[in-house]
Amino acid sequence: MLCQHCGNPYSGKVSRTLLAFPTFTCLACGFVNVYPLGNGYRGLYQILTVVFGISFIGGFSNGYLMLPGGVFIIAIVALMKNRKLKQRLSPLGRAAGTPAPRTAKVIIRAWHPGQLALAWLVLLFVAGIFYELIMTGGVPLTARRLMGLMVLAVIPATLASITWIWLGDRDDVTHSRVR
Ligand SMILES: [Zn+2]
Repeated sequence: MLCQHCGNPYSGKVSRTLLAFPTFTCLACGFVNVYPLGNGYRGLYQILTVVFGISFIGGFSNGYLMLPGGVFIIAIVALMKNRKLKQRLSPLGRAAGTPAPRTAKVIIRAWHPGQLALAWLVLLFVAGIFYELIMTGGVPLTARRLMGLMVLAVIPATLASITWIWLGDRDDVTHSRVR
């Protein structure tokens, strides 16, 4: 593996971050390198996203909400981070110059902040629909109130934390090289 900062080869021990990203500290310049996930971990996160995403939505009907929601969010955050790492590293390995990924990159860059705001609106709208369904569904009144509150609280909180992580990470891109 090569250091992303100074390009020195590294052959020592590679550890993993909390979300299982391979990481090592360059011996030459001290830069903390984080590499994208391998296919195994990425596949695992994709499966977790689908499975827990479904049970997260399904959970609205029986109040079983927090745990699948938590796993779902972690898996989504890991996948987003992975995609960003890949994008960040791609110009290094793409000296041969395939023009196709370039447009993808431009679109991703434009994701800020307009599309993020749009995603917020859409998801809040979805939350509103869930809220309506719960409030008008055949759920006992107290449980219904509780679930409605959770929908209204959990979804904006999720969005806020994803936004926070996303923006924070982008900040990292420009500042992490100061070391
Ligand atoms: Zn280095």
